[in-house]
Amino acid sequence: MRSRTRLAHAGRKPSEQFGFVNTPIYRGSTVLFPDTAALLANRGAYTYATKGTPTIRALEEGWSEVSGAADAVAVPSGLAAINLALLTAVKAGDHILVTDSCYLPARIFCDDVLKRLGVETTYYDPRIGADIASLMRPSTSAVLTESPGSQSLEVQDIPAIAAAAHERGACIILDNTWATPLFFPPHEHGVDLAIEAGTKYLSGHSDLLLGLVSANAKWARRLRATYDALAICPGPEDVFLALRGLRTMELRLREAERAGLDLARWLAAREEVARVIHPALQTHPDHALWKRDFSGSTGLFSIVLKPVSQNALAAMLDGLELFGLGYSWGGYESLVLPFDCESYRTATRWAPEGPALRFSVGLEDLDDLKEDLEAGFARLRETSGNGGKD
Ligand SMILES: *Cc1c(COP(=O)(O)O)cnc(C)c1O
Repeated sequence: MRSRTRLAHAGRKPSEQFGFVNTPIYRGSTVLFPDTAALLANRGAYTYATKGTPTIRALEEGWSEVSGAADAVAVPSGLAAINLALLTAVKAGDHILVTDSCYLPARIFCDDVLKRLGVETTYYDPRIGADIASLMRPSTSAVLTESPGSQSLEVQDIPAIAAAAHERGACIILDNTWATPLFFPPHEHGVDLAIEAGTKYLSGHSDLLLGLVSANAKWARRLRATYDALAICPGPEDVFLALRGLRTMELRLREAERAGLDLARWLAAREEVARVIHPALQTHPDHALWKRDFSGSTGLFSIVLKPVSQNALAAMLDGLELFGLGYSWGGYESLVLPFDCESYRTATRWAPEGPALRFSVGLEDLDDLKEDLEAGFARLRETSGNGGKD
């Protein structure tokens, strides 16, 4: 089956739902057993809601199939998915390698919680490739990757890093939120545990928080056991909405790809823009790697502006009517986010020539989006002309 067909059918069993096309929202905690023998043996498809409901299982089975995984679990947020994957792989006394380009809250989990549990973290340059071997110790049990990286969008050589990690018995974890399994099938590329913040493109509507972790055959049991022990199950409405999002995810991603590339090229031609950071553009330093491993790009990319005052930047952003200022991404509405990685990176230097902005392109008409930005650039120029005094 091709991916669109798979998205339309994965995780659905109408015959178990009186013929209804979609698995409904099962709310509940208690599951009744038919008799004492079944209860004592804890026998049955469902035994208690922290261990699964038909709604949650539909999403997990669907996601597992779409990801080419042996199993998948659903958790209440993308960050919970990162934390669960790390907790699945480590024990006290271990050392882990984490990409310097990772989602910032994951770093806080490593530096605070994992440190307290006796796990040491070393951050590495996302472009390290096979040289990751030089950072590995006998105690290195996990390598966390994220490709492209948060905000700065470095593409990682996942197959090379996976090969080096596996040679030394370490678990390779990938935050695959940007590409999704549709544009980067993680387990085919050697990933053991793959993370998706379903809050982004799986939802597509900025109306829920959800995370998923998928595992290959080697890690599936350990993932499920850790998940069951932590009982971090998502709420039924969120899971239902994610299942709805799953059916249209490829259509939305293809549109995000088209609109993202169009807007990125338009921005690259603007005189106010120093450079555009989009892996699918030839100007991206890792474009060759992206081309080798990915089958598509999405609607999230960054730009660096030529140097301007903070006032001029604020004048540009504050007057935008269509682009919202806010965190998260992957919804139907466009967003822009000023960012600066310099304050927290430790293995690499982030020193852009001017202010950096991250764009998430939504489903609005591109001409309207360009007009909104055009007016923003006019305010930027005007305020710069005043020496940034306004
Ligand atoms: C947003 C995001 C997360 C976290 O997802 P939440 O559901 O907001 O917790 C994790 N990784 C990446 C790359 C993200 O962009």
